[in-house]
Amino acid sequence: MTHLEHQFIDNRWVASASERRLAVTNPYTEELIAEVTAGHPRDVDAAVDAAKRALPAWQSLSGAERGRYLEAFAEALTRRRDELARVSSTNNGKVLAEAFIDLDDAIACYRYYARQARALDARQGEPVRLDMEGVEARCYHDPVGVVGLITPWNFPLVTSAWKVAPALAAGCTVVLKPSEVTPLPERAIAEIALEIELPAGVLNLLFGDGQGIGIPLCAHPDIDKISFTGSNRVGEAVMHAAADRTARVSLELGGKSPVLVMEDADPEQAADWVMAGIYYNAGQICSATSRLLVHQDVAEPLYAALAKRIDALELGDPLAEGSNMGPLTSARQRDAVQAYLAIAEREGLLAVRDARHRTLPDRGFFLAPTLYRDVPSTSRLWREEIFGPVLCARSVADEAEAITLANDTDFGLAATVISGDPERARRIGRQLKAGSIWYNSEQLVLPQTGWGGFKRSGIGRELGPWGLAAFLEVKHMVGPAGEA
Ligand code: NAD
Repeated sequence: MTHLEHQFIDNRWVASASERRLAVTNPYTEELIAEVTAGHPRDVDAAVDAAKRALPAWQSLSGAERGRYLEAFAEALTRRRDELARVSSTNNGKVLAEAFIDLDDAIACYRYYARQARALDARQGEPVRLDMEGVEARCYHDPVGVVGLITPWNFPLVTSAWKVAPALAAGCTVVLKPSEVTPLPERAIAEIALEIELPAGVLNLLFGDGQGIGIPLCAHPDIDKISFTGSNRVGEAVMHAAADRTARVSLELGGKSPVLVMEDADPEQAADWVMAGIYYNAGQICSATSRLLVHQDVAEPLYAALAKRIDALELGDPLAEGSNMGPLTSARQRDAVQAYLAIAEREGLLAVRDARHRTLPDRGFFLAPTLYRDVPSTSRLWREEIFGPVLCARSVADEAEAITLANDTDFGLAATVISGDPERARRIGRQLKAGSIWYNSEQLVLPQTGWGGFKRSGIGRELGPWGLAAFLEVKHMVGPAGEA
């Protein structure tokens, strides 16, 4: 068993000030695999202090110099790819093939922001075109300062990469708080910082929960920005805490994303995309396309194609070849999803596939992949983020109804449109209120394209140049022409 009792502060592993310990469980074996400190406000003080001291030197490096460290992060992750994919799979429960995709996503993210850091140098002092004679203006991009980064457990090393890489590229110094549920893969970020000799204090990593680390970090007067990924409940608390001192926030929150299947789609091909959008990572995806809106002309063949694929899903040991769906990440998450299945029973929802259709492995936090059809839009299963392998479907009479129902949600993270006519799919996509629209594809997330939500799915964007801009302050120098 691993003991994570030390915090990574100022390039040293120092004992946490807290005596409180949290259990880390392998969701497949249900065994205790680690104990992690719950963290303490004094840990936060020490880490923020280190980050503050490191800021002047780090921000005065050129973007190209900072980019070299980010390249080194990517190389170190690449060297440890096999080991870290296994650790991630063991701690999170995702099947190994998905853990490898995560590692590749994280590596690509560090590489991308290494390039963005270099490109930032050329953008410093760019002249601004003015309509006034005799005056000139130039634009600069300064780092926001010391930033607190808080991440969830569903994509270890990925959600942290999306924040750490752009923050360091921008010249910010960092206090990272990964989820207490998946600390084992995230520990590698601190190990790599040491290995690549990142200057002390530039990246600090604190283990702990909301009470031990999250709350004091958000309230700390020297934290200039909080970038948070997680639930709406906590995200809104983070925003309240930051409001007290006008600290900046970026929020990546929940979703209830739709997938629209039009009557000109091939049901077999559509079924593959629908499956990838909801049962991947056992449905624990913020951008899961968990509401299926299918044109009535193709509803029956699509449900049949989905049932066939759901039955073929192999639930089992995430490390074993052949498994294509692992357990939920925690007993808590399994129970939360199960509560929705109980609501479905009470509401009398019609199941194409539910728990009755499947025998679960005899250990592990597994749940049957489920598909309900004709779900009314008043159902809690239709409206709330479930964060598990639960697909809710209903048929629609036409394109207009599909678009109206797709947009009838508090969230707006992603959406998928499937049509035999790609032009039509794009046209429908333009009418959907969400940050990422996939047409005739699913869950394609690229470092170059922005990530983030409309409405209650969040504030701001990660990835792409927008992910870097989230850690920069814009500054203009204006004066008489010719004197600069
Ligand atoms: P969560 O909100 O419970 O926890 C997220 C993080 O916040 C954890 O590190 C947790 O320890 C910390 N935290 C808890 N209480 C806190 C507090 N009061 N102040 C500050 N920090 C606190 O979320 P989760 O269960 O870990 O993750 C699941 C949620 O994350 C889902 O809603 C999912 O949609 C969302 N998510 C969103 C994205 C996105 O990009 N939009 C990506 C992944 C996950």
